[in-house]
Amino acid sequence: MDWEVVIGLEIHAQLATRSKIFSGAATTYGAEANTQACAVDLGLPGVLPVLNEEVVRMAIMFGLAINAEIPPRSVFARKNYFYPDLPKGYQISQYELPIVSHGQIDITLEDGTTKTIGVTRAHLEEDAGKSVHEGFGNLTGIDLNRAGTPLIEIVSEPDLRSAKEAGAYMKKIHAIVTYLGICDGNMQEGSFRCDANVSIRPQGDSELGTRTELKNLNSFRFVEAAIRHEIERQTDELESGGKVVQETRLYDPVKDETRSMRSKEEANDYRYFPDPDLLPIEISPDFINEIKTSLPELPDARQKRIMKEYKLSEYDSSVITSSRDMADFYESTAKAACSVASLDVKSSKLTANWIMGEFSAALNRNSLDIKDSPVNDEMLGELIKRIDDNTISNKIAKEVFDAMWNGEGTADEIIEKKGLKQVTDSGAIEKLVDGVIADSTPQVEQYRNSPVEKQGKLIGYFVGQVMKKSRGKANPKQVNELLRKKLAKD
Ligand code: ADP
Ligand code: MG
Repeated sequence: MDWEVVIGLEIHAQLATRSKIFSGAATTYGAEANTQACAVDLGLPGVLPVLNEEVVRMAIMFGLAINAEIPPRSVFARKNYFYPDLPKGYQISQYELPIVSHGQIDITLEDGTTKTIGVTRAHLEEDAGKSVHEGFGNLTGIDLNRAGTPLIEIVSEPDLRSAKEAGAYMKKIHAIVTYLGICDGNMQEGSFRCDANVSIRPQGDSELGTRTELKNLNSFRFVEAAIRHEIERQTDELESGGKVVQETRLYDPVKDETRSMRSKEEANDYRYFPDPDLLPIEISPDFINEIKTSLPELPDARQKRIMKEYKLSEYDSSVITSSRDMADFYESTAKAACSVASLDVKSSKLTANWIMGEFSAALNRNSLDIKDSPVNDEMLGELIKRIDDNTISNKIAKEVFDAMWNGEGTADEIIEKKGLKQVTDSGAIEKLVDGVIADSTPQVEQYRNSPVEKQGKLIGYFVGQVMKKSRGKANPKQVNELLRKKLAKD
């Protein structure tokens, strides 16, 4: 049986306001427990919530960025449930009338095609506090610093068809909220998190299968891994004659498995009703227009501009613009890399390759963000300039890059200090070439007796030998040309 995978994501993004959604308490991460929770966050009797206008502005920015509807009126609702980290006994959220509805997000798939994913709604809500299990013996501590932190919950249509698509969608939303500056996007600190709803159905069926909801997904990698596992588990279940039970499951990244947490609650379990303490939000067209004119450049627009301005491919430009930090880093590095006033195509492409390749790999290896990289844009730009003007080969550049990364100086300093300058002196190269040809009689014979279309491959051996003798410093293009010339004649 062929199964079709169906996924819908619910993403919580913490809005980057300085104070909470309904109180004046600070939202700074990492403060001492319960030092940033006021009477409103504690739900003390007699307090009243007051809406933070900045939160509304940010939600509208998001709505505009995804071409959504922003209805003139939206309403806060109480979602009732009991939990120790929720002192009021209800969470203020939105239910029937969310602030944003019916948006669209384009994701780029691996084959380069674009797919549009529907966003059902995005609503405002307050975060709950945290239960703390360490340091209290058999007891549990409650930290209410996070209570009342503003969140926007972004709910997708069940339009995603694979773990990869879900990952691409999540990355795209992450890019949009960080480009907008409405969320810091920090997943370790929980500022951006995701629940995935997963089901499968026989290929061609129009009815949706029973879904499970996966919680606790706080990295792009975990989202994809958890979904892959869940698809496998559901497939096994159905193919062995069983059933998928609608439930909430928890992903355990250490064991790389999902396990049942609780049976899924239904919306009516929460007894939603409009919060009598808060007036409906009324949004005027003027307010929306004012926000529209202040929107920054968004990922899709930036991707198209970078693709055109720097002559990059669709794929390269979409990787480069996948985060605002990377796009900023790319543009400043590419500018530092070109020696002339206007951008040149070769160094733009080279810059993209370096940032997506060596540079990203080094960041990953060291679990660093771009902002904390020991090699900055100026330094990387200078290195690329030296590849571009043939001072060093791309291969030697990797050695220089490692040295820069380890704090040994700038590219020029390292090239000078280590004597890495490329040999372009044709006399010196000719000597090396002659030496290799003299030492490789059988290979020379084989080359000369081979048809032209095979020679292209065989020449690699000679190039390799010459490069080795020059310790990587000979200009590969010159070596190639000279070898071809010399090998052609007897
Ligand atoms: P709830 O309120 O219980 O969380 P919703 O109906 O609001 O449920 O849906 C939550 C998310 O689950 C949405 O992103 C939606 O697209 C997705 N979803 C709903 N049904 C399915 C299904 N059968 N398979 C996969 N995803 C689903
Ligand atoms: Mg849900």
